[in-house]
Amino acid sequence: MALRLHNTLARATEDFVPIAPPRVGLYCCGPTVYDYGHIGNFRTFVFADLVRRHLEFRGHAVNHVMNITDVEDKIIRRVRETGLPLREYTGRFTDAFLQDLDALGCHRPHHLPRATDHIDGMLRLIARLVERGIAYRTPDGSVYFSIEKYRGAERWPGCACRYGQLVNLNLDEQRVTERVASDEYDKDNVADFALWKARVPDDGDVFWESPWGQGRPGWHIECSAMSLALLGDGFDLHLGGEDLAFPHHEDEIAQSEGAGGLHGGLWNEHRPFVKYWLHAAHLLVEGKKMSKSLGNFHTLRDLLARGWTGREVRQLLLAAHYRDTFNFTMDGLDGARAALARIDECTGKLREAAGTTAATAPAPALVDAFGAALDDDFNISRGWAAVFDWVRDTNRAMAAGELDATRAAGELAAWERVDTVLGLGAKPQAEAPPEALALLDARAAAKKARDFARADAIRGELKAIGWAVEDTPKGPKLKKL
Ligand code: AMP
Ligand code: ZN
Repeated sequence: MALRLHNTLARATEDFVPIAPPRVGLYCCGPTVYDYGHIGNFRTFVFADLVRRHLEFRGHAVNHVMNITDVEDKIIRRVRETGLPLREYTGRFTDAFLQDLDALGCHRPHHLPRATDHIDGMLRLIARLVERGIAYRTPDGSVYFSIEKYRGAERWPGCACRYGQLVNLNLDEQRVTERVASDEYDKDNVADFALWKARVPDDGDVFWESPWGQGRPGWHIECSAMSLALLGDGFDLHLGGEDLAFPHHEDEIAQSEGAGGLHGGLWNEHRPFVKYWLHAAHLLVEGKKMSKSLGNFHTLRDLLARGWTGREVRQLLLAAHYRDTFNFTMDGLDGARAALARIDECTGKLREAAGTTAATAPAPALVDAFGAALDDDFNISRGWAAVFDWVRDTNRAMAAGELDATRAAGELAAWERVDTVLGLGAKPQAEAPPEALALLDARAAAKKARDFARADAIRGELKAIGWAVEDTPKGPKLKKL
């Protein structure tokens, strides 16, 4: 069965057919680096990681791009308050963000463009929109996107070139004459939006030269310029949290399609800006969106400091289907810990049973069931059900003595294959205390002296203090029981 996904653009679930297989271009709107990300933000980024990993599992060559929004209203305010240079301020939170991604077991995106490195592309897109009469300069030197002009502009075959592709808008009944300078507005109040914001005293040193005077870009044009620059005019997949569908993504479409692409490719090749849009539902706290403004958020750092691991937080963020909102609770984290313990116990026993036997191929049942679940619009809930059915069946088979080393190795390889998508990795090794390390040395010495009875006795002593010895091709290792 082909991979199917829910495309916000089509408002339907569709077969995934890449534009130029085996390559797949994947863009996910990244963080605004004005502070530490909260785990609501990371629900979306972990989902993007899952999408990329599943596409790779299915053999696609993914080019994964995630931008870093390093110039924007909130950042400018913080820069003004702290007196730090923009790059120094945003660099600090960009590093923190990347550390958090690592701690959550996310693959680093192939490209992490910073908005401030793509100002030229933004100016090119804006100039093209002005040239086509779709954007206009205001007396203060700002440039706005005209929704009215866009709706009347010439189209190319195959291009919807319509404002309101991701959300339903009744523009005929709404007057779209007002302008909004802010990057955020709602769909009951559709208005021309800023592509370029003229420099004001509060911007301090944060400004660039442009044909319309000094200023800085609006948030929406940043993502159009970066995605088109790195993935080309017209790419496969664009992701973000559901709050971004309007106005951010709608505006990205309007600007990109209005300009015909960064290199004219949308116009010349009759392509839409993006083929598939995926939107992840919010992480909630007591029924409300986890957000900075509501103050109901946890950063990953808070949770790590309280003794949770990145792996446990990842398991929790991946617990529910991406289109279902999901309530964050501490009980949920307990559940994640318990779920991982069940998996670790099973894979630990498989490892012991397999010993040094290598698998010829992964056993198919788990890989097939899990792959089919994820092919169904990344149905991770079904994926977990496949994993826990497998844990139960494998435990039973081991208890009944049905798994010899070869079969155990095959099941273990199946888990490892599935884990290329889940990204949980092995249970982190607990630090062995000095007495356990001393016993490990003593055992090695006993084995060298061919005193196997003593070596076995030491294995027993280690077990008594909570450690198992595993003989691996790289030598003996201690594992916490
Ligand atoms: P921001 O840094 O605010 O631009 O947000 C980065 C990403 O996190 C965007 O894709 C947002 O849609 C997403 N996001 C923000 N809050 C939440 C939440 N509570 N749950 C899931 N995703 C969120
Ligand atoms: Zn974006």
